[in-house]
Amino acid sequence: MSEARECLAEGAVPIGGATLVWATWQRDGFPERAVSLRELPEANVVGRETVGGAVVLHRIDERVPDVLRLAAATVGTGAVRRTATVGGNIVGSTLRCLLPAALVLDARATVLEPGGVREADLAEVVAKRPVLLSLRWRTPVASAYRKLPGEPGGAPPLVVASALHAGHGTPRRVRVAVRDGYEVLSGIAPGDADADEILDALRGTALGDLPADAWDVVRPQVAALTESRDGDRRDR
Ligand SMILES: Cc1cc2nc3c(=O)[nH]c(=O)nc-3n(C[C@H](O)[C@H](O)[C@H](O)COP(=O)(O)OP(=O)(O)OC[C@H]3O[C@@H](n4cnc5c(N)ncnc54)[C@H](O)[C@@H]3O)c2cc1C
Repeated sequence: MSEARECLAEGAVPIGGATLVWATWQRDGFPERAVSLRELPEANVVGRETVGGAVVLHRIDERVPDVLRLAAATVGTGAVRRTATVGGNIVGSTLRCLLPAALVLDARATVLEPGGVREADLAEVVAKRPVLLSLRWRTPVASAYRKLPGEPGGAPPLVVASALHAGHGTPRRVRVAVRDGYEVLSGIAPGDADADEILDALRGTALGDLPADAWDVVRPQVAALTESRDGDRRDR
């Protein structure tokens, strides 16, 4: 970790799998220094409630919530997923298929700076692009992810991610995040209501601006989350 910090202090550029930067570097020249987190244990964790920034997408499996596993599985091709990293996707790419999943998990980021390690929220990670060491979240009761098929070279396909969180001394919450074009919108609604009431509450958030076809994808996801919630209640 101290070596990585030293590299950053000396102006090294963070590098994940180089799937995005390689072509640019070949064309425009390589940076004097680059730093990879590949050998850093803290950046390579995969667990129920955490994933490291250097984890390659194809290592993201059923240990993590469905929403994140499915998001990783739909990025690019198998060859891309064997090389591209969580940090490169969330911080460094424009598509950021993992971002809606991370948002509905209400993930917190741990970022690495020359001065040390600190926590940051996802809005800051996207805006300021610090070095992402890892993400951490609380396991949701249920979660879902859907990416619509896209045209090669066309607009980014619509992505809808959602999760139902159990209250830890607070009421349940439903979080939904949608990538529409390159924009990612998200909203929170009370999770104890019925599906129609949850959808109404979500329409009152930033998601209210979404086009009708996006709501066609949001609606069944919210219905499925409430069904899992009711199944969960019956099992107790
Ligand atoms: C053919 C193809 C298809 C793709 N399809 C999709 C898709 O469907 N959905 C999608 O979301 N993405 C897609 N991508 C983008 C892919 O996810 C990115 O290549 C990947 O996100 C970049 O990861 P990387 O580890 O290779 O990053 P790199 O190329 O190494 O770096 C990219 C940028 O991220 C920065 N960076 C890298 N790691 C970190 C870190 N830990 N912290 C901070 N900054 C960091 C680098 O400094 C650089 O600016 C596709 C890419 C390709 C080549």
